[in-house]
Amino acid sequence: MKTRRNTIQRRVLLEEIRKSRRHLTAAELYETVRDRLPRISLGTVYRNLEILTESGEVSRLGVAGHETRFDGVTERHPHYRCRVCGRIDDAEGTFSVQIEADIAAASGWELGAPSVEFEGVCPACRASTGARPEGTRPPGDTVH
Ligand SMILES: [Zn+2]
Ligand SMILES: [Zn+2]
Repeated sequence: MKTRRNTIQRRVLLEEIRKSRRHLTAAELYETVRDRLPRISLGTVYRNLEILTESGEVSRLGVAGHETRFDGVTERHPHYRCRVCGRIDDAEGTFSVQIEADIAAASGWELGAPSVEFEGVCPACRASTGARPEGTRPPGDTVH
């Protein structure tokens, strides 16, 4: 039964996305699930990711110029994004985010929770290129 097989595939994909803290790309996810779903194709992985994103079970994360990554944690949480390799990690710790309430009020916008992303260079890329994070700003300054 085709529908049933699709449901199982989607459930396994969702499980693996939730299990991984690495924010997998479609290709990485495909490699990960091949043990459990030997007959799955990369196209099927893409199609299911589309469905899971639309239903709100996973969220899509992008770094300009790099492959889209998928996150099984859909509540807002802070991320580190590497501008060199596109890696995305969950940012650990507590952050104090200063919101300029006056500016929001003046703009007439009703704002939701802030989404916090720190763009920079990951430890692996720093080690291999000697790159230094440029334009490093205090955490309170990086709300988008
Ligand atoms: Zn990197
Ligand atoms: Zn995340």
